[in-house]
Amino acid sequence: MSDQRYVRQLLIENWDQNKLNESTATIIGLGALGTVAAASLAMAGVSTLILVDYDTIEMSNLNRQLFYRPLDVGSTKVEICEKILKNINPNIDIKPFNRHIEKVPHHELESSTVILEGLDTFQTRRWVNSFCAAKKVPLVSGGMYSFLGNIQVIIPEKSPCLECQSLIPEEELQKACTPFGEIRKKERSQEIQDEIIPSVSSVSFVIGGLMAQEALKIIMKLPPLKEYLFWDGRAGIFTSVPLKRRDDCIVCSPKFKLKAILIRSPKDQSIKDFGTQLRYSFNLSSDMFMLYKTKKLSLSKKRVGKVFSEDAIFRVIDPSLSFPLKFQILLD
Ligand SMILES: [Zn+2]
Repeated sequence: MSDQRYVRQLLIENWDQNKLNESTATIIGLGALGTVAAASLAMAGVSTLILVDYDTIEMSNLNRQLFYRPLDVGSTKVEICEKILKNINPNIDIKPFNRHIEKVPHHELESSTVILEGLDTFQTRRWVNSFCAAKKVPLVSGGMYSFLGNIQVIIPEKSPCLECQSLIPEEELQKACTPFGEIRKKERSQEIQDEIIPSVSSVSFVIGGLMAQEALKIIMKLPPLKEYLFWDGRAGIFTSVPLKRRDDCIVCSPKFKLKAILIRSPKDQSIKDFGTQLRYSFNLSSDMFMLYKTKKLSLSKKRVGKVFSEDAIFRVIDPSLSFPLKFQILLD
């Protein structure tokens, strides 16, 4: 009788169930968006779902996170998700990882047909974006805040990545007449501290459903969403915001795959101030550090000209990015 399961979706024009039967979707973050997207992908018959979350279930999750019940409080999210998804569709494989995304075997993530993330921390979202850009895995990214939501699809080497977007001048965002800039600011502030975000399940069903739909389209090689889609649930309006790839994006620009990123510094600037210059110029996290000749540089008062030779190449490790950045210093 299992053939009967998919008969209605097989009626959809260009639907390709065979592609779903041989695909893997990774869902990072099993909260409001992740659970809705996972349910939809399991129902449709995506053959393998990789689930990633290190959290346990809390009572305050139950207003919007689809799979969790009062009895589940204290259990891990992956454990409950695995059980429910297996019930939804016993024909699919589930690979649960109860850990931080950085600790999931990279080959598992790399082998994904598509990765979906509905994360609420900027740092982890940034890591996932850089991983997908480096390993060329399509990414579906969703966010929600109050009655607002957004979704963006990143096809590696084709569409702008999240890092291209985050550096859009504020006035460009104002033009689109959306509170998009506000959402970004909220995301930024989470770098400092996880914020308690106002949220309700009606928004997660809209955005989580859209995320699953985009993932299914990617798997079936149908044209994906091209623009940043913003949902204003108060007014009931979807707005598309066109985005451009940044030629100098440190995450997805092809030129930095081959060449180092150039950075100028006065010779008499301290290493500490140079570190600050790097952080602000490239939007790096406060945990970043410099590696030069395989040694970690301490942020001292030592002068840049005393530490680096002319045109020296060094690397920056930022825990919020999945790969080191290569820089070349030009001394003034
Ligand atoms: Zn980019």
